[in-house]
Amino acid sequence: MDAASHACGIPRPSAPAGGLRFDLLVAGGGAAGLVGALAAADLGASVLLVERDQRLAGTTAMSTGLIPAAGTPEQAAAGIDDSPALLARDIMAKHGGRADAQVVERLAAESGATIAFLQRHGVPLSLVTGFLYPGHSVMRMMGTPNRTGAELLAALAAAAEAAGVVILTSARLADLAADETGRISAVTLERPDGRHEVVACGAVLLACGGFAGNPDLVAQHLPDMAGATMHGHPGCRGDWVAWAERLGAAVADMDSYQGHGGLAAGHAIPILWPSITEGGFQVNARGLRFHDESRGYSEAAAAVNAQPGRMAWTIWDARVQAVLAQFDDTRDALAAGAIMQAASGEALAQRTGLPEAELLATLAEVEALTRTGAPCRFGRRFAPRPPLAPPFHAARVTGALFHTQGGLVVRPDGRVLRTDGRALPNLFASGGTARGLSGPGAAGYIAGNGLLAATGLGRLAGRAAAALVRKEAP
Ligand SMILES: Cc1cc2nc3c(=O)[nH]c(=O)nc-3n(C[C@H](O)[C@H](O)[C@H](O)COP(=O)(O)OP(=O)(O)OC[C@H]3O[C@@H](n4cnc5c(N)ncnc54)[C@H](O)[C@@H]3O)c2cc1C
Repeated sequence: MDAASHACGIPRPSAPAGGLRFDLLVAGGGAAGLVGALAAADLGASVLLVERDQRLAGTTAMSTGLIPAAGTPEQAAAGIDDSPALLARDIMAKHGGRADAQVVERLAAESGATIAFLQRHGVPLSLVTGFLYPGHSVMRMMGTPNRTGAELLAALAAAAEAAGVVILTSARLADLAADETGRISAVTLERPDGRHEVVACGAVLLACGGFAGNPDLVAQHLPDMAGATMHGHPGCRGDWVAWAERLGAAVADMDSYQGHGGLAAGHAIPILWPSITEGGFQVNARGLRFHDESRGYSEAAAAVNAQPGRMAWTIWDARVQAVLAQFDDTRDALAAGAIMQAASGEALAQRTGLPEAELLATLAEVEALTRTGAPCRFGRRFAPRPPLAPPFHAARVTGALFHTQGGLVVRPDGRVLRTDGRALPNLFASGGTARGLSGPGAAGYIAGNGLLAATGLGRLAGRAAAALVRKEAP
């Protein structure tokens, strides 16, 4: 081990003579890191994946685990006509084309191959049917049997281990050693007891998630969400932001985030958005609707948080509940008592404490809008769904920050770019650490952008890193 000390106490890494060396060092054990590691190992690279937590989880394990893919055999079998071009168009349409078109198009083009690659490695993914997320033209989400990120994460970890990836937990990537060209030859790992270890590597893949777990960075870049409930992974602290500055790496869309306007208040369980897309709606504490809920759950977070007490009620019915029932999150919300039922509008007012006259008027207004197909004053059209019918379901929700979407600017193969547009020699980024697909702000996120970037870019970055190391091997 060869380590001089920084002023901050973290040993400066330099390539240890005769010490540990891997072709690829991956930092972060969520979907982006695991898929990147798997893809590199698949091509014969030696890979060390380090994760700061005691066990693998990340935002990925908290998620619903749904990954969009276009033109899959599963869609063909279900009679769904889709194409990578349509997926790319849907992603770009949500933010008026303000993401990197080359990255979006490449990930859309590779989306089917990414799913097939994961399935080949034993990840059980099937097509999610029965509802359409806002922004998607057709049903194209792939999910694990219970539609949970924890299932996805466990399957990815098993696949990576089976492919020979060495996984080291309780090991935080603390520093990178780069020469004057930006080439990284070694990294310093920090253990929970304060020990430092230096590992040499041929390339580095940063897959450390975003920075939702760092309140200072959130306040700086996402003032909308400062003070909002954080329902992401606390380990996503944006360590890479300081490294980017030191290496001269470009960052973009740092104000971009995935919010959610339906986190069950006090329960930390998302009330998933089919509650809305299938015909439900939201009211504030005065029993009044306040936005077009159908635009998307991400921008709904700020809309809910602008209401008194940062609270709203999401209201739906038994038909919608049948769609929600396929998700573990719904079962968890029911078990936690986060979802209440009421036989009538009056009973709903009583159970929720919402003012009865206003709530009944809102229910009647939504029913009329659903029957006539006319747009509401916020522009939402409830048709062609059937009107909601008692018994009603309701949950008290708040707007939460799930995951940040801005990050290191990358080429479509995950290679990190400098501020002058040139690529750094051997640094890659994917998932929440890379600039996402959602453009700036919160409104550009459509369901699946997070895991499409994590799995798609992860796979491409892992492959590109393995190819680079092989090419540069002495
Ligand atoms: C409730 C919820 C539901 C969601 N549902 C979906 C969905 O259905 N579909 C979808 O596309 N997206 C969804 N998302 C978003 C999605 O989960 C994320 O976009 C995705 O998981 C990001 O993957 P990642 O690997 O980049 O980050 P993560 O999964 O967060 O992994 C990053 C890992 O890096 C580790 N780490 C951080 N710094 C270091 C360091 N210095 N050294 C070592 N390790 C480090 C962290 O501890 C963490 O384990 C959801 C998010 C939430 C919160």
